[in-house]
Amino acid sequence: MNCRHCGSSLEHTFLDLGFAPPSNAYLNLSDLKRPELYFPLKIKVCDSCWLVQTEDYASADSLFTAEYAYFSSTSCSWLQHAERYSETIISELQLSAGSFVIEIASNDGYLLKNFVAAGIPCLGIEPTDSTADEAEKIGVPVLREFFGEVLGKQLAQKGQQADLIVGNNVYAHVPDINDFTKGLKVALKSGGTISLEFPHLMRLIEQAQFDTVYHEHFSYLSLYTVSRIFAAVGLRVWHVEELPTHGGSLRVYGCHSSDSRGEEPSVDELIQRELASGLCDLQTYLEFQLAADQIKNSLLSFFIEQKANQKKVVGYGAAAKGNTLLNYAGVKPDLLPVIFDAATAKQGKFMPGSHIPILSPENLFAEAPDYVLILPWNIADEVVNQNVLIRSWGGHLVTAVPRLKVL
Ligand SMILES: [Zn+2]
Repeated sequence: MNCRHCGSSLEHTFLDLGFAPPSNAYLNLSDLKRPELYFPLKIKVCDSCWLVQTEDYASADSLFTAEYAYFSSTSCSWLQHAERYSETIISELQLSAGSFVIEIASNDGYLLKNFVAAGIPCLGIEPTDSTADEAEKIGVPVLREFFGEVLGKQLAQKGQQADLIVGNNVYAHVPDINDFTKGLKVALKSGGTISLEFPHLMRLIEQAQFDTVYHEHFSYLSLYTVSRIFAAVGLRVWHVEELPTHGGSLRVYGCHSSDSRGEEPSVDELIQRELASGLCDLQTYLEFQLAADQIKNSLLSFFIEQKANQKKVVGYGAAAKGNTLLNYAGVKPDLLPVIFDAATAKQGKFMPGSHIPILSPENLFAEAPDYVLILPWNIADEVVNQNVLIRSWGGHLVTAVPRLKVL
């Protein structure tokens, strides 16, 4: 396989998690009687442009099905994050009724509803029907397509170039990152701004966040590599912010290469830190498997110890990253009998691979578990605040990444 950005031959493995089902392929009761599809989950690193990328195995269409269960609006902290961002960017870019905003992967309208409320014309691009339906119900216009150069050109031809193109947690999810970036270029108005958020590879490595690796996540990105991908199509990064979301994300601001805006010091400063943390050093990547294996082994030891002591352990948050962790560790319902999740779309379903049932958090208190393993550690604070009652019967909250911790 060759690098999806620069075409160099991919010689080095960053992480090999064996085989796993797609992490968003939640199962119904009837699915448990059928065979389940597993795909190799192996991540390579390019030693030329340092793009960390999933090894080829399947097309995007088979992963993002109509039943895709992730609705952005189910996380309160993410909704607040989107609202703050909208207020700030509307003010900074002086967006008004004469502007046009595009969001790629607009999900259920969690972000664009703020632009609709402000009277700013906008368009969501979202191929997943279940989330697009929700967005349209709250007045967000949606184009049900995958984004790339072809769609970017169509938008430009229709006079729909944007003053602002937002992509939150989509850039790392696209199979063809070059084509997507070319689409950004052609759909962007002269003087327009691109704003992309994606998990930061530097944090993933520092915090051993191997559970954020899944098939739907094609790229693991540094500012260094994104700057190269932008430059290749005539875009450039002029500012970057570090965010706490998803365990440490970047919000990269881009513009046409010819734009008159100068580069903020934030760009070079962060690239220097990336270099200092070894992101252009092959050894950094070759050591990551060991970190993942240590987390897996500690988690298994914890489960086995609690089982031996007849303690009850349950899970909280049926997130994609939970599936990566549980499937790599080979955990099944004998060790973790149930996972509670507030998303109604997931309740009554089963985790892919592990087949652990997912129930409404209403049932958590009746169980009175000794330990609640929070799988989406990125929203651990939110979960802790919502579940303070667990302490009333002596229960504890636990996270597994970057190391097993009883909170
Ligand atoms: Zn490359």
